[in-house]
Amino acid sequence: MRYSKLFPKTIKEAPSDEVSLNAQLLLRAGFIRREVAGVYNFLPLGLLVIDKISNIIREEMNSTGAQELKLAALQNKESWKTTNRWDSFDALFKLQSRYEHEYGLGPTHEEVLVPLVKQSLSSYKDLPLYLYQIQTKFRDEARAKSGILRGREFLMKDLYSFHADEADFDKYYELMKKTYMNIFKRLGLDAIETEASGGAFSVFSHEYQVITDAGEDEIIYCPGGDYSSNVEISKVKEGKQCDLGHGPLKKAKTIEVGNIFPLGTKFSDAFDLTFKDAEGKEKKAIMGCYGIGITRLMGTIVEVHNDEKGIIWPESVSPYQVHLVGLSEDADKVYKELEESCIDVLYDDRDDKSAGEKFADADLIGIPVRLVVSKKTEGKVEWKSRNSDKTEMLTVKEVVDRLCSEE
Ligand code: ATP
Ligand code: MG
Repeated sequence: MRYSKLFPKTIKEAPSDEVSLNAQLLLRAGFIRREVAGVYNFLPLGLLVIDKISNIIREEMNSTGAQELKLAALQNKESWKTTNRWDSFDALFKLQSRYEHEYGLGPTHEEVLVPLVKQSLSSYKDLPLYLYQIQTKFRDEARAKSGILRGREFLMKDLYSFHADEADFDKYYELMKKTYMNIFKRLGLDAIETEASGGAFSVFSHEYQVITDAGEDEIIYCPGGDYSSNVEISKVKEGKQCDLGHGPLKKAKTIEVGNIFPLGTKFSDAFDLTFKDAEGKEKKAIMGCYGIGITRLMGTIVEVHNDEKGIIWPESVSPYQVHLVGLSEDADKVYKELEESCIDVLYDDRDDKSAGEKFADADLIGIPVRLVVSKKTEGKVEWKSRNSDKTEMLTVKEVVDRLCSEE
């Protein structure tokens, strides 16, 4: 991609009322633009990152046997009445049509999926069933000051599992815990599995929390150990010695990037979602739900991976693999050669910008590898990682070998 053609370009300063670091950096670097408070437009660079995050999540969900679908965002009011959530789900946007209808604007999808599964579920042979989607959610959040960490419109992966019995549910829940940790690792995040309240559904749930001061949550955890609990439910205090791990329990601010819940028969009861077991007896399906905030993850990655110059994307989600800064005419040829290899290139081909301006933009945008072609590089290419000051001189072939052999 030629940067001269890319929509839009970097800007010097984010709007002064944009207080969160993730939104400031993403706005300045040209990944997002704000529509209204809590609602953002995702621009070409931003969409590339969202798609990379989504695809990693997809791969991991598919590996558990789950099937992807896409559910309605305009939801049936009657279903929300059935679960008694039409009046009790505070953040539900209610939409009045110009005809007689009223709709819920999907903040979550139990009310859509459970009636849908009910149409097809008859026997224990239909179970277990794992269905997920990557969908825009709408929530009338009270505060939207954290950029894309808390949107009124945001992208979520939500999976719902249906089981014949608790033991089968437990097995899948444990598999999901492992799968979630894989996902966060692949995204370059250290997430801590944290005990949390089950809300209205069950006695407990598990949250995946990433430590950063930008977080709105707080956990008490055992560094290097296996204990972490949301402060909202924690029975122990900071400073107490850990059972397993290094030193005393610590408190930290965190971002909740994912949340998995046992739902029991709460929704199966509401919609009478039953199946016949092996003896022909009618039973209620046991359910679980598993959410991950995709746009929140993007914001979290920016909050965790940045420096004073800009963003530092992990390779796995970077919009392009390399940022080629062209400072002489030879750069066009190098761009073509790289494009013909396996490499995705963002090529700064502008002829009206100084080297300094181009380097500053490369640092702000945050692609993990910067390549420079100039008169000084004499037929070679200067390689620099975004998170290091060290430079190396390589031939184009060496660059290609290095990046294409990693695949
Ligand atoms: P929170 O406690 O932060 O409000 P939640 O517990 O209500 O979130 P869930 O219903 O569990 O959220 O949603 C699953 C995931 O979706 C969350 O773990 C989070 O990553 C993401 N998410 C929830 N609300 C938002 C939001 N307003 N903006 C962006 N992501 C969100
Ligand atoms: Mg949650």
